[in-house]
Amino acid sequence: MQYVSTRGQAPAQSFSQILLGGLAPDGGLYLPVEYPKVSHVELDAWRKLPYADLAFEVLKKFATDIPEADLKALAHKTYTADVYRNVRAGEDAAQVTPLRVLEDKDGRKLVLQALSNGPTLAFKDMAMQLLGNLFEYALAKQHAELNIFGATSGDTGSAAEYAMRGKKGIRVFMLSPHKKMSAFQTAQMFSLQDPNIFNIAVEGVFDDCQDMVKAVSNDLEFKARQKIGTVNSINWARVVAQVVYYIRGYLAATTSNEQKVSFTVPSGNFGNICAGHIARMMGVPIAKLVVATNENDVLDEFFRTGVYRVRKSAETFHTTSPSMDISKASNFERFVFDLLGRDASRVRALFHKVETQGGFDLSGKPGSDGDEFGKVAGYGFRSGKSVHADRIATIRDVQDRYGITIDTHTADGIKVAREHVEPGVPMLILETALPAKFNETIREALGRDAKRPAGFERIEDLPQRFEVMPADVAAIKSFIANHTGL
Ligand SMILES: *Cc1c(COP(=O)(O)O)cnc(C)c1O
Repeated sequence: MQYVSTRGQAPAQSFSQILLGGLAPDGGLYLPVEYPKVSHVELDAWRKLPYADLAFEVLKKFATDIPEADLKALAHKTYTADVYRNVRAGEDAAQVTPLRVLEDKDGRKLVLQALSNGPTLAFKDMAMQLLGNLFEYALAKQHAELNIFGATSGDTGSAAEYAMRGKKGIRVFMLSPHKKMSAFQTAQMFSLQDPNIFNIAVEGVFDDCQDMVKAVSNDLEFKARQKIGTVNSINWARVVAQVVYYIRGYLAATTSNEQKVSFTVPSGNFGNICAGHIARMMGVPIAKLVVATNENDVLDEFFRTGVYRVRKSAETFHTTSPSMDISKASNFERFVFDLLGRDASRVRALFHKVETQGGFDLSGKPGSDGDEFGKVAGYGFRSGKSVHADRIATIRDVQDRYGITIDTHTADGIKVAREHVEPGVPMLILETALPAKFNETIREALGRDAKRPAGFERIEDLPQRFEVMPADVAAIKSFIANHTGL
């Protein structure tokens, strides 16, 4: 299986060649030359498989240059009941992504798929844990090392640290804004004592952290010498790992391949739902893929009108579902490539227009850039939006009706899912975090604290290990160099 860039000007590469990298050299994103297919015979055979074996079956279609025995061992090391142990009462950790029927009324069925039972209580663990094991495996083969450098305001940084902790050949340098994360998120990251994890609390805001990452990335000589890499959501292996739970959700919610299901996905960078698109393109019987946004509704606007209009950072709202506070979804280009019939030169022109004019228009109206919006529904896509008041109302309603506490992002998903569920087609809502991570809003909605999974009760009291540094690029560079010895 070879991978090509959405912008068409980078050489084709294998899975292992793109594993450790980010963007293609032409600025595009990698996708397989063509999507592997899943037959109905395979789907039937996969119904009974434990999660790790299903992950292996899916991975081997994409990672064709890794020996199958190695892939199988990596899948089994990653997807265990122990890693995904933070289940609710009544859920079975051995299922890895257990389903729970919320409602089944007049044939309209709402089902929650728990993806947040991993070490950091958010769905990013589903892919990041595999990435940690894949990276360690690939680096050992190449006798190489990698220094992951990034900035976080919460979920991504902790998922990366928990995936890379203790891994041979890998160090993580993670910037976060000093005293700006929640006490829970801070404790989660800073309590890690592993010698290969470096938490750097920057005296500034998240944008200062991100600017420092950009400045370091632009110094190509430093980046090469220090073997700097990233683990952001455009990483192809992360997307593949996410394809697995769509197939798992489909199989667990149906009894025959004649049936279809739909998914609603709380979306930010479009990474999660992009995996759903790929599962559908592979032939998994998925009816609708519903994009749920919060107040930052760039994607909802596109899927309603065909107009893609990114917002500037000053126009990006800070909301109570903060992991969706994104106005330029980094994985969206992958879907646009397919929507345009894989015409890389048009993708190049449209995303150049995003840089220069802030967006493009595929509505087909006079003066627009194309009429492909007419094809969007044919790919199953629908969308909806949820704001703070909806979130609060949905958290209360789900607590009252079904007796479970959901987090703010999942609440956005359920609000939008209810607008799109149809008789005879189960609607699976992907649960992207557990409520303990966003306790302030749970208190506002329910007047009490969210329950914490076992082992998280007193994480704020654990000793913390972190460096406080000014927002100074030279200082961070020398910190990295001093700790890598390179
Ligand atoms: C990252 C994240 C999202 C958004 O996922 P994307 O892949 O960026 O669309 C939604 N909810 C939570 C809790 C997250 O951490």
